Amino acid sequence: MDKNKIQVIVVGAGPAGVSAAITIAKAGKQVLLVDRSDNIGDKNVFGGCIYTKQTAEIFYNFLDEAPLERAITEEKIIMLTDTNSTDISHRFNTSDNCLAYTVVRSKWDRWCVEQAQKEGVYYAPKTLVKELLFENGKVVGIKTQFEKYYSDIVIIADGVNSLLAKQIGLRNELTDKDVTLNIKEVYRLPKQRLEDRFKVNSNEGVAAKILGGPLKDMFAMGFMYTNKDTISLGFGVSLDELKKQKIKPYELMDKLKSHPSIACYIKDAEFIEYSAHMIPEGSFDKIPKVFDNGVMIVGDAAGFVNNVHFEGTNLAMLSGKLAGETAIFALEKYDVSASVLSMYYKKLKDSIIIKDLKTHNNTITTLKKNIKTITTLYPELMSEALSVIACPDGIPKSEKYNKLFNDIIKSGVIQKSIPLGIFAMEKCLKK
Ligand SMILES: Cc1cc2nc3c(=O)[nH]c(=O)nc-3n(C[C@H](O)[C@H](O)[C@H](O)COP(=O)(O)OP(=O)(O)OC[C@H]3O[C@@H](n4cnc5c(N)ncnc54)[C@H](O)[C@@H]3O)c2cc1C
Repeated sequence: MDKNKIQVIVVGAGPAGVSAAITIAKAGKQVLLVDRSDNIGDKNVFGGCIYTKQTAEIFYNFLDEAPLERAITEEKIIMLTDTNSTDISHRFNTSDNCLAYTVVRSKWDRWCVEQAQKEGVYYAPKTLVKELLFENGKVVGIKTQFEKYYSDIVIIADGVNSLLAKQIGLRNELTDKDVTLNIKEVYRLPKQRLEDRFKVNSNEGVAAKILGGPLKDMFAMGFMYTNKDTISLGFGVSLDELKKQKIKPYELMDKLKSHPSIACYIKDAEFIEYSAHMIPEGSFDKIPKVFDNGVMIVGDAAGFVNNVHFEGTNLAMLSGKLAGETAIFALEKYDVSASVLSMYYKKLKDSIIIKDLKTHNNTITTLKKNIKTITTLYPELMSEALSVIACPDGIPKSEKYNKLFNDIIKSGVIQKSIPLGIFAMEKCLKK
């Protein structure tokens, strides 16, 4: 290999970049994967779950060999009022054919990069790409803090705030409406206590979404995931909402973790980590041009996140794979022009990435408009309805039913739910 020229350079060794690099290396092409981190994954913030389907397409052996934390056997929605909570839980009573696993990014990213190296990918850690090299209207390589490297194709996988995509005019500056801020704390609890507390067997785990309570009346959602002997607890909130509400992220975090229905999960657990990171507020209309002469953009850098379903890593891996396949085709044709690389966009259109982002194009706007209904009214009415059923407090049932009925009417929840119901039905019926 010419020291400074290679067929493909991939910038960023997150899920998107590693998937692109592995796909290309498996076809026998030369690929250099660079990342600014000393220890890959150490600074990559994540909740969270990886999903079996897309992961297995890149890492055939991951179920047997990867550093997985727990198989998600319970998906939970915790609806908080100021004082109470109502949980909706969906349990799979087996971890066979599990659709999602929690991972810890520092261990997971390291394992992924090792798999890439085994496939023949050249990996360069501690390599910060400062800019892309551009000649005659085509991207021809990268400039790092050390030197210049040339390639036929560069794949940009540098994450949510992609400076490189901005540099070549494929993306605009991010605004408050384009991203959510995510705050996460990690707590350590001995494995057995964690399993008792979350009522799971060994290696099984819980993924919870948290609505309302301290996060009410704003576009924000909490999350809680179980790892082997740690719990990840946090929330994502729209940056424009944070500004509007004039509340500091750490104040929200304090309120969330001291809510009685949340505090019980982390009681006596050792606090070990605090981190913050942005996630794109993905939608079809926000997708930038994702290819040009000699270049493609994948993963968060292209805004491929489905916030409604908490999907980011799977779309990152899939887009990396599709860009990798396109790169192989272009190299074999000896043509890396935008017209050949446009095949990447066609592949995206046929995949769940663009199909799902189209389905949810207006969902966040609709949820934001109805946020009070979703985060305040629903949790409060659920709590009240269940109290009526559950509490033998000596008040005649007819009085309690009357009060509940009146509260439902007064709240306007029925009228408010109609547009939401119609919106949801349209999404289901749309092809
Ligand atoms: C708190 C939180 C919880 C989440 N939970 C989930 C979840 O449960 N499920 C899910 O699917 N997704 C989740 N996500 C989203 C998911 O993490 C992202 O969608 C996914 O990591 C995107 O992968 P990526 O490879 O595009 O980018 P990243 O993972 O951000 O990787 C980008 C890489 O590029 C490197 N880099 C950046 N700039 C440069 C440069 N100039 N030079 C060299 N290297 C560079 C970085 O070091 C990094 O390694 C969560 C995110 C957060 C913040």
